[in-house]
Amino acid sequence: MKHIKKGHEPEKFTNWKALENDDWKPSWDDNFQAPEKPIVHDALLKEQGYICCYCGMSITRETSHIEHLKPRSNYPSLSLEYKNLIASCQGESEKPPTVPVHCGHKKKYWYDENLMVSPLEINCVDFFQYPASGEILPTDNPDKKAAAETTIKKLALDIDKLQKMRKKAIDGALLAIEGLTDKEIQLLAQGYEKPDGNGQYTPFCAAISYLFKNYF
Ligand SMILES: [Zn+2]
Repeated sequence: MKHIKKGHEPEKFTNWKALENDDWKPSWDDNFQAPEKPIVHDALLKEQGYICCYCGMSITRETSHIEHLKPRSNYPSLSLEYKNLIASCQGESEKPPTVPVHCGHKKKYWYDENLMVSPLEINCVDFFQYPASGEILPTDNPDKKAAAETTIKKLALDIDKLQKMRKKAIDGALLAIEGLTDKEIQLLAQGYEKPDGNGQYTPFCAAISYLFKNYF
């Protein structure tokens, strides 16, 4: 999981919400659609460097959906609150339905202030360990372990599919460091924490960066 620094919401989204009056209310279910919805979706993708808010796989507008960190069911007042919106992998209308389900669709209406690791927390990366096997493990830190374990389970971050994808990304990164000194590897690890020239993060960069920092 990589920290997402929330920026300002798109102006067009603000203006649309400001149209609220006695006869019309902005609503996620009833009228949040084009052009505002794709504008917000694109802003989230850009903010996140085009990786999933939870697992870190590469996403586009087609292969992702707008996710409510705090679910609409329990937090209806936050349904159009930009700071509560993030982009998760697995699209809204991918047909046939995406299986296995993980990340936002798996999380669904779950949220727990104490037991959910949020990508909006600046230290969210510290909750997990990423060995070269592609696994995601909870940290050994007793203060953080319960939340990490619960989050992994609730979002299905440890399923075979994601483990294989992480392993593939890690293997690719390991190939690229052959012959480098430890110092060069650490510099590279820092590089994975920043987006590239196109504003994109390397998929699973949190796992790669963790591995380089902890095993070299
Ligand atoms: Zn994901």
